[in-house]
Amino acid sequence: MSATLIDGKVVAEYIQQDTARRAEKLKSRGVTPGLAAVLVGDDPASKIYVTSKARTCKKLGLYSEVITRPAGISQTELLSIVNSLNENDKIHGILVQSPLPGHIDELSITLAIRPEKDVDGFHPHNVGLLLINRPQMISCTPYGIIKLLEYYNINPAGKEVVVVGRSNIVGKPIAALLMQKGPWADATVTVAHSRTRDLTSVTRRADILIAAIGSPELIKGNMIKEGAVVIDVGVNRVEDTTCEKGYRLVGDVAFAEVVEKASFITPVPGGVGPMTIAMLISNTVLAAERLCGHS
Ligand code: NAP
Repeated sequence: MSATLIDGKVVAEYIQQDTARRAEKLKSRGVTPGLAAVLVGDDPASKIYVTSKARTCKKLGLYSEVITRPAGISQTELLSIVNSLNENDKIHGILVQSPLPGHIDELSITLAIRPEKDVDGFHPHNVGLLLINRPQMISCTPYGIIKLLEYYNINPAGKEVVVVGRSNIVGKPIAALLMQKGPWADATVTVAHSRTRDLTSVTRRADILIAAIGSPELIKGNMIKEGAVVIDVGVNRVEDTTCEKGYRLVGDVAFAEVVEKASFITPVPGGVGPMTIAMLISNTVLAAERLCGHS
């Protein structure tokens, strides 16, 4: 058996078409949804992410601003940028690109973002609402995973889901979403992490396995059940001198082995990755709809 590929590019395109339609509707009422991205320092990966978010905004007809500051920016200065974006009527979504330099208290910055404009869904207000099943802003990668399941009609209700990883941005929110009562949820969720004893016996229980680890190809073929749905969130660079760049991207799942046992699988790249940006822009339009009373 060889798994069906879950094509994140196709689903992201579908989401983006809907987002563009919603943005157009807002524009016809005089509101152009706007996203501001704050980029601190010169981390190359962060630059790529922010540029690609701004490019997608443009493609979908949104207004976007990228505010770049040197790594030495003070906490006070960064807070004042966030505060001015909170007050700026052209901006409906604010994201402060991670990672921030060590002297910046990331939580204080997240707390400063107006929850209605927190399109990353990282503000504790939004995290708390998600936990009590009253979500307002759902963080983009977990939201993207739900949209992938929905598109491929993979209903998690009653299924055993194992999430490997318990980060605040992926593992915890996807577990929280899938355990809720309601559509595209109602799963029995187990969260595994680096202290889990006998990871293989846990992952082999999964009808749906979500790997958000950051460890190249850690999930091997023998760690999954025949017919499982496998969602690979990991994006890892591994050295490869045969590639022009000297590296290639691999997920947290040993794709070549797992594809033979799974029923559905996300590739890396091209699986979960494209969904994150699609959901960010969708959240920005949602924020604009709500802030302008058009939802
Ligand atoms: P993270 O904050 O580093 O968390 C990794 C999690 O994996 C931790 O909970 C850790 O356990 C667990 N872990 C590490 N080694 C393990 C092991 N050997 N066995 C079991 N669990 C283990 O990472 P993250 O931010 O969630 O990101 C995870 C991966 O997803 C990364 O590759 C990242 O680049 C990728 N990512 C992709 C997207 C996208 O858009 N596609 C978005 C976000 C992240 P402990 O808690 O015990 O340390």
